[in-house]
Amino acid sequence: MQECQMPAEKNHSDETKKETLKSAYMEGRELLRQSGIPEPELDAWYLLEYVTGVSRASYYGNPQQELTDRQQAQYEACIRRRSSRIPLQHITGEQEFMGLTFRVNEHVLIPRQDTETLAELALDILKKGEIPDAAEEGQVRIMDMCTGSGCILLSVLYYAARSLSGTGADLSEEALAVAEKNAETLGIRAEFVRGDLFENISGRYAMILSNPPYIRSAEIETLQDEVRLHDPREALDGREDGLYFYRRIVDEARQYLLPGGYLIFEIGYDQAEDVSGLMSGAGYTGIQVKKDLAGLDRVVYGRYS
Ligand code: GLN
Repeated sequence: MQECQMPAEKNHSDETKKETLKSAYMEGRELLRQSGIPEPELDAWYLLEYVTGVSRASYYGNPQQELTDRQQAQYEACIRRRSSRIPLQHITGEQEFMGLTFRVNEHVLIPRQDTETLAELALDILKKGEIPDAAEEGQVRIMDMCTGSGCILLSVLYYAARSLSGTGADLSEEALAVAEKNAETLGIRAEFVRGDLFENISGRYAMILSNPPYIRSAEIETLQDEVRLHDPREALDGREDGLYFYRRIVDEARQYLLPGGYLIFEIGYDQAEDVSGLMSGAGYTGIQVKKDLAGLDRVVYGRYS
């Protein structure tokens, strides 16, 4: 809640108008609308819930409930921040992914719903048991390369029916701190390794998952402010043709996969052909593309023997 402190000089005189849940919401929504925020209703609502802790049910039970001065000031501050296009998730400090709540901050890419396609595919493959016999210790090892908040790794570990051993790798120390915190909060055991891709990885894995940076550098400037200015650039930028990390991961992952192990990528909607080509060129087989809920190509995967 440090994110939306009330201004120190706030005037608490008796004339200060008392806002009710409803009037605060309506004003917040209007300010967001005027600032051109894409979903003013939703964001005004989430921020009200964040500041007051009031659920939708109790809101409808008593919309005339008054906000405290402190809540009122905090709500105004949150609305102001959102009006300046700071992402909602940076204000509330969290984002839901696969039904779990993840802490986020400016050091990690905010988990996208599209990425659930990747996590669900990994869970499907694990459930069908088509994974290589892993492991010295009898445990299947999976890795999330470029783990960020840890949302992919941790949700797969959370929902998998069997016990897995999981590694999350990232270049960013700050991102790994977020991932570690998320693992702790969710009560999931995972190992986190800092390094330039596989630099500090050892052993072999049954499955390597990755949502690497894949936006073409020139395209980043065309993205909405929330993404362009507030997601970490190094989590977006796939260099000139957007494929820099796919090239490196496709090549290097071969040394870290068990025979028959899976490499599973999230991709941009127009990258299926390029990434499939990189994988088949490097000797991966059974390469397939999976679409997201919007019907766009979202995941490419294959096996290496
Ligand atoms: N899907 C993200 C976006 O559209 C990009 C994620 C990435 O580069 N891995 O902003």
